[in-house]
Amino acid sequence: MYKLFDLQRLSMENGPGLRTTLFFSGCPLRCAWCHNPEGLYYNPVLMYFPDRCIQCAACEHVCPVDAISYNPEVGPTIDRALCTNCGDCAAVCPTESLVMSAKTYSLEEIMHTVLRDRPFYDRSQGGVTFSGGEPLSQNMKNLEELMKAIKAERIDLSIDTSGHVPLANIQTAAKYADSFLYDFKHLDAEKHKEFIGSSNERILDNLIWLSNNGAVIHLRTPVIPGFNGSEEDLASMAEWIAENTNPSTISLLPYHRFGSDKFDRIGIPDKKRLFEPPTTEFMQKALEIYRSKGLQQTQIGGAILVSNVI
Ligand code: SF4
Ligand code: SF4
Repeated sequence: MYKLFDLQRLSMENGPGLRTTLFFSGCPLRCAWCHNPEGLYYNPVLMYFPDRCIQCAACEHVCPVDAISYNPEVGPTIDRALCTNCGDCAAVCPTESLVMSAKTYSLEEIMHTVLRDRPFYDRSQGGVTFSGGEPLSQNMKNLEELMKAIKAERIDLSIDTSGHVPLANIQTAAKYADSFLYDFKHLDAEKHKEFIGSSNERILDNLIWLSNNGAVIHLRTPVIPGFNGSEEDLASMAEWIAENTNPSTISLLPYHRFGSDKFDRIGIPDKKRLFEPPTTEFMQKALEIYRSKGLQQTQIGGAILVSNVI
């Protein structure tokens, strides 16, 4: 079984062509700007969308640990310290104001969706992307079964990874994946640790291993003022890439604030950290810096045109 917090069809920014993207729940990293905090956890957590609530109070009556107190003036309030994420309230909520962050899918259920989307892959040179969360931090035996099933159908498979996983997991994925979408966030190990919760050593080592072993790599860097958004940071990253890897494409992704309200929905508003989005002029400057280091395959934005892949 596979825990997904989203199964997105016809996505265009998760690899070449039109993709069916599986967002696996659970991630070992804690990026300060995370856009999908509901995907941080390996088990589903309760999400609350107050704007959908019709104040029926059904949720209060079913909670086995009295974590919900209902007030007709403000609707339900959830005591997250008591909540065990059992999902009973989400099961009775008539408006999906309360929902669990992830659902469990069987291999057959996933393949049913994947095969239904095959005509789109054929016309766009698309396929399936594993994303997350961190897909390569899942149970690798299960994941390998799914990779085998997809490749048995001769469908293109891309793995979107932070690279912060054991090398053995990267090596298993490399047996099946046609390409990797690989995050490269910062060269400075201390800054990486401060903003992401972990050093970048393993990430860089795994990236070099993939490069040395002929993997098709689409490198992706979120550009975030206050984290990696200085000209010096970007120049040092570009130099490292030029010396150590040979990515097919490099996407510079301007930071945005979409999704920041998700921290409130899963009850961790104190973890929300907002940055200033980079200006259009700065993104252009970042592009020039990368290209000046010989990285002509750099672009702004994540859509990968099949004709751009070198
Ligand atoms: S998910 Fe949490 S709030 Fe909802 S019924 Fe279970 S324990 Fe209560
Ligand atoms: S069950 Fe849903 S709609 Fe009814 S009060 Fe609870 S959150 Fe609101």
